[in-house]
Amino acid sequence: MKLKDLEFKKFISAEKIHAKIDDLATQINSDYKDKTPLFLPILNGSFMFASDLLKEIKIPCRVSFVKVASYSGTASTGQLKTLIGHEESLFNQDILIIEDIVDTGLTLQKIIEELRGLGAKSVEAVTLLRKKTAREKDIDVKYVGFDLEQEFVLGYGLDYDGLGRNHQDIYKQVIKG
Ligand code: 5GP
Repeated sequence: MKLKDLEFKKFISAEKIHAKIDDLATQINSDYKDKTPLFLPILNGSFMFASDLLKEIKIPCRVSFVKVASYSGTASTGQLKTLIGHEESLFNQDILIIEDIVDTGLTLQKIIEELRGLGAKSVEAVTLLRKKTAREKDIDVKYVGFDLEQEFVLGYGLDYDGLGRNHQDIYKQVIKG
């Protein structure tokens, strides 16, 4: 599949993604069985993952989609804005951030710091994908779907320059040469 100047090939199938989501949901349903967590999916990238994951969450919970703007092209810029869009009070809540992918972990760390500052009772994160950088830096993510190396991926909510979010499978960039 070609998108603009880059070539991509299928990497993780929709079936594999859904099987992994079932595992993650089972863990979360068990860990949070005596709580009423507030899920904060981070837009735009996590919309498909959040939608499929939340269908498998069987405990009482709240959901509020939020946004941070920090990324353009295929490399993290490190420029972060504040968390916007949360309508629920975050004070004293057991918060579970839903991320599409953790790369350097900078975005997630900033969000966690901000939520703690706002008085959340607990803050954990679930991410569908985690890159090697985050593993090496020991970024604190409680629930991880798939571990990747440094490949650039798209599909299932993730984009390249705004394109590709609509695919049900995840694709990775083909590096030529
Ligand atoms: P971090 O702050 O962890 O370096 O970057 C996290 C954000 O960068 C993700 O939420 C996502 O928007 C974007 N990102 C990181 N790696 C990729 C990738 O391989 N593909 C896409 N489409 N976005 C990525």
